[in-house]
Amino acid sequence: MFDALAERVQSAIEKIARKGRIDKETLEKGLREIKLALLEADVNYKIVSDFIKDVREKALGAEVVKGVNPAQQLVKIVYDELVEALGGEAAKLDLKGKPAVILLIGLQGSGKTTTAAKLGAYLKKQGKKVLLTSADVYRPAAMLQLKKLGDKIGVPVFLMEEEKDAVKIAEKALEKAKSEGYDVLIIDTAGRLHIDEELLDEARRIRERVNPNETLFVIDSMTGQESVNIAKAFNDAVGMTGIILTKMDSDARGGVALSVKGVTGKPIKFAGTGEKIEDFEPFHPDRVASRILG
Ligand code: GDP
Repeated sequence: MFDALAERVQSAIEKIARKGRIDKETLEKGLREIKLALLEADVNYKIVSDFIKDVREKALGAEVVKGVNPAQQLVKIVYDELVEALGGEAAKLDLKGKPAVILLIGLQGSGKTTTAAKLGAYLKKQGKKVLLTSADVYRPAAMLQLKKLGDKIGVPVFLMEEEKDAVKIAEKALEKAKSEGYDVLIIDTAGRLHIDEELLDEARRIRERVNPNETLFVIDSMTGQESVNIAKAFNDAVGMTGIILTKMDSDARGGVALSVKGVTGKPIKFAGTGEKIEDFEPFHPDRVASRILG
């Protein structure tokens, strides 16, 4: 991910560097190329416009620093803006309380169930006693998938295969986690292929009932422009405290990272980087920005 975007942004900056100094025209040309690069990477139009506006203001307002060439100065400005647009500091998980509850929401196929297991394994490695549960009452296969993953990573999975009320499953899982001294309860929820009022409402009711520390919205990096609408729908209807971006190992163009952060204002907390359980890491805006700028 980000390869094509990185190439385009770097080429725009190299062209400016060759000029030696940045006059207004050179700056505008460079900004236009960066803008196109971001749009081609599927970053939402409004977010791109705001981004370019901020970079322009800073570049024009920047004092000429002795010994630093103008292109380097522009790289620094674009870098700072990218880090900011991607969320600034790497975000931490709120794990206060016993158990801390983490609710995962998102569309079917986003990688939610895999992510539940990845996050479970990640927290187990930190010495936490983790319980997983699936509140997907529509697809028995999803429950079994989580059970299989739980067995693989050695984390218990609480299931109520006959229960048709997702809220009840979440409540029962919370009771169990409380009474048995678990540190963290991770709740996987049902997904559908498209945004659906009933599904959003169910996720909202689970959230209200179990009052999770974190409600993490899982989204596939390959989602493209549609990611803005999906993220907004989940943020408006259910609410979220952070984002998990999956399939960062794919050849997705990267725009989703900037778009979902931009439209929800919520930080990207983790990234899925492959199909294996260990392909999962905290999201670092500074590292991604460095990668884009080369
Ligand atoms: P859910 O329907 O949202 O629960 O999605 P699943 O967890 O079943 O994942 C859907 C597909 O995406 C599966 O084939 C996963 O192996 C795959 N997947 C999930 N996360 C990643 C990731 O970070 N990288 C890659 N390459 N595949 C992933």
